[in-house]
Amino acid sequence: MIYIHIPFCERKCNYCAFNSKIGGAAEKNSYVDALIEEINFRGDNSEIATIYFGGGTPTTLTLNQLEKILGAVEKNFFVDKQAEITIEANPYTVLSIRNYFTTPNCSYLRGLKVLGFNRLSLGVQSFDDELLKILGRIHDSRTAIETVELAEKIFDNVSIDLMYGLPGQTLDKLRRDLDRLKNFDVQHVSIYGLEIEEGTKFFELARADKLNLPEENLCADMYDFITETLPALGFNRYEISNFAKKNFESRHNLGYWTGKKYFGFGAGAHSFDGKLRTSNTRDVATYIEKNISVVEEVVTRQAAMEEFCFLGLRIVDGISARTFEKNFGENIFDVFGKVIDKNRRLGLLEVDGEKIFLTTRGMSLGNEVFADFLL
Ligand code: SF4
Repeated sequence: MIYIHIPFCERKCNYCAFNSKIGGAAEKNSYVDALIEEINFRGDNSEIATIYFGGGTPTTLTLNQLEKILGAVEKNFFVDKQAEITIEANPYTVLSIRNYFTTPNCSYLRGLKVLGFNRLSLGVQSFDDELLKILGRIHDSRTAIETVELAEKIFDNVSIDLMYGLPGQTLDKLRRDLDRLKNFDVQHVSIYGLEIEEGTKFFELARADKLNLPEENLCADMYDFITETLPALGFNRYEISNFAKKNFESRHNLGYWTGKKYFGFGAGAHSFDGKLRTSNTRDVATYIEKNISVVEEVVTRQAAMEEFCFLGLRIVDGISARTFEKNFGENIFDVFGKVIDKNRRLGLLEVDGEKIFLTTRGMSLGNEVFADFLL
């Protein structure tokens, strides 16, 4: 698995605490060069089944820049012919005139497909203009709709991100957002509850009591509404926040939740080789200067056991007691028996044969269950 971080955006959204910034053309060029250098340096010809370009907004790069990065990956790894290759995109960036004119004869989206991307993840967040404005998103509802309609003509695998718990959002607005999905032919939906994080505009507004956030109960109702509506629309829930039509689950993200090894390239990107977790320097200028400081963290056996449980429990199928025993040489009930019993009594966990998984109620209180698995 390979993750490639592109830390550039056209504008900083009001709620965003991701490692992203507005970058100029020269900075983007230098970043791409640094990225290629890192890939050349760390590439080991290993087999790669999934590649994920995330950010930031990877589609702020030109097709030419993306092609160079993919070329470096191909040169330094053995990329499976059936690999899932995802790129996150912002509706505005893929339809913008700038990108259109940098790729005459074919639209930017078609260009992505030609480069080998076979999965598009669109950061729509909402189809409501008022909410998009509050979020500080660069696109409006019309752009989002046009982008989805164009994307589904070009890609067989399109995912949409939607948000809930937004300032000024009502159940009715959320219902209208989900209703839109009936008109599209997308294969995957990710849902995100708004979190107010330090360093964002929303954080300042919330502190000054100027953010009209929905009550906790309303947020819970929104969450329940989403988890009931999406399956009725044909999107099966396969993870706490992710829903997909059959066989369109994100293979890349499933890899994270099931403890697969991964390479992360770019500023702030994390890697995991099965034992050691490393993360690159977060600052873009420092990364470009090649002063990459790599922070290393040895994943202890105990941490690996905890992660196996709380990452695996995110998936609807849950975790396998047999796999736990195979990986760690111990019976999961000897290690986590008390935690499992407690959460079963609370109706948050279920055990069926060798499978342990969250109940529907457990899914909505996932963080509480996961905290229990920290030994
Ligand atoms: S587009 Fe995404 S990464 Fe960029 S500022 Fe907005 S939320 Fe953050």
